[in-house]
Amino acid sequence: MDKDLIKDLIVKLAAVVGERNVLSHPVDLSVYESDAETLDASCPDLVVLPGSTEEVSAVVKLAAACRMPVVARGAGTGLSGGATCVRGGISLVLSRMNRVLYVSPEECCALVEVGATNVSVSQAASRFKLYFAPDPSSQSASTIGGNIAENAGGPHTLKYGMTTDHVMALKMVLADGRIVTTGGIGRSSNDLDLAGLIVGSEGTLAIVTEAVLKLIPKAEKTETLLAYFPSVGQAGQAVSDIVARGVIPAAMEMIDNLTLNAVEDYLGLGLDRSAAALLIIELDGQAIAIAEERKIVESCLVDNSIISSTWARDAQERATIWKARKTAFGALGRIAPHGYVLDGVIPRSKLAQAIEGIDEIARRNKVIVSNIYHAGDGNLHPCILYHRDNEEEVARVMRTGKEILTLCVELGGTLSGEHGIGIEKMEEMPLILNEEELELMGRVKQCFDPAGLLNPGKVFPQLKGCGESGRTLLRHKVFSHC
Ligand SMILES: Cc1cc2nc3c(=O)[nH]c(=O)nc-3n(C[C@H](O)[C@H](O)[C@H](O)COP(=O)(O)OP(=O)(O)OC[C@H]3O[C@@H](n4cnc5c(N)ncnc54)[C@H](O)[C@@H]3O)c2cc1C
Repeated sequence: MDKDLIKDLIVKLAAVVGERNVLSHPVDLSVYESDAETLDASCPDLVVLPGSTEEVSAVVKLAAACRMPVVARGAGTGLSGGATCVRGGISLVLSRMNRVLYVSPEECCALVEVGATNVSVSQAASRFKLYFAPDPSSQSASTIGGNIAENAGGPHTLKYGMTTDHVMALKMVLADGRIVTTGGIGRSSNDLDLAGLIVGSEGTLAIVTEAVLKLIPKAEKTETLLAYFPSVGQAGQAVSDIVARGVIPAAMEMIDNLTLNAVEDYLGLGLDRSAAALLIIELDGQAIAIAEERKIVESCLVDNSIISSTWARDAQERATIWKARKTAFGALGRIAPHGYVLDGVIPRSKLAQAIEGIDEIARRNKVIVSNIYHAGDGNLHPCILYHRDNEEEVARVMRTGKEILTLCVELGGTLSGEHGIGIEKMEEMPLILNEEELELMGRVKQCFDPAGLLNPGKVFPQLKGCGESGRTLLRHKVFSHC
């Protein structure tokens, strides 16, 4: 974009959000060049940090007037390149809008600004013994806006569902700057489920500014188990058996031997380094039901040759068990500086087959893959460990990623369980959607954003007629400087 036009725009934006909330220095911009998917990097032209819905609306109107892309951004913890400004434009960072505006114990809901972190909602609700169920492992940093845009999940998605199941109403800014609300607190079947459409749309349809979130009561009792297995296949079979016998735990999470050892190197929790797989199972509900479920779980573990297991005796032990899982991605940084986290989904019953396939793909491409799974719902997070500066290694990493995602689809699964499509999986979309389905999605996009200014270059592999420039994708670009 023309330098004079940018200068003029900076002045107008500063009048809306204040001078200190418009960033244009290359060093500042470089902070926003990617999200946590660092294979793709591209700097925005400007970073703008609005403080209210009205300011978001005014910024979007100014951007639309000069046809500048606007990419919403929360905490930038996304793992599919969603917040990366592939076509430049404005990185619209919503982190200043971080208030939990109220919690209603009567309606079991909270009204929040979208820059609030996921964990802050449960913290605000805890005095009413309520909490917000979606719990991505990034919950201390990731924002409600990012959770909504990606339809985030987490370990407890197995029993409680994804973000979409916990969103009651949204306030949002459309591509032309108009402010609209959708949904409500009570039950309703008056209209199309627009909130359902916006959740998971990755900032490509509208910019969400406020949300009414459903809160649920804390369970009467929670029991958490740590179990070790001689093979990932046996752990996977135990997971399938537990569900087949009618028990839906709150969470069933698995990490493999490589990850387990990285966590142990990092935290020294006393984990069994020799086990091929570590499985965490959490049961919650009424005490009487849990006692029965415990027996079923234990018998499924024995049937699958468990090495050993322990139930947490108190809240502190439970927190330690979860620490092993929730620090897993960070701990992998001890093995290599970069990790490319995949998000494939497979039918739960195909876990052992998928793991064998991933091993074979990793060996053939000579890459290190660690495995972290939301095992209960078949959501796999193979993490390919690599050095971003080695172009030849990056090419193998990209190939490995594509092959693993293709394997997931071939096994009857899909491309993403919770991280979204972003830039990362855009080229793979035709593996799961045919031309008609892709075209239908394109028409929805066109209806919301005819000029193609909201998060362009994401999700939709080809956006014919949506005003997109058709510039080449950024994928695989290893070196990118602002
Ligand atoms: C260590 C680690 C662990 C993780 N664990 C999980 C997990 O267990 N489960 C899970 O689901 N994810 C997980 N993630 C991925 C990530 O945290 C989630 O996708 C999260 O929802 C992103 O939130 P964010 O605020 O960082 O969003 P960002 O990364 O800033 O943005 C993500 C997408 O949302 C859009 N967006 C952001 N705010 C808005 C808004 N207000 N309106 C419209 N669009 C918006 C952006 O344009 C972008 O497309 C993990 C990531 C890391 C780094």
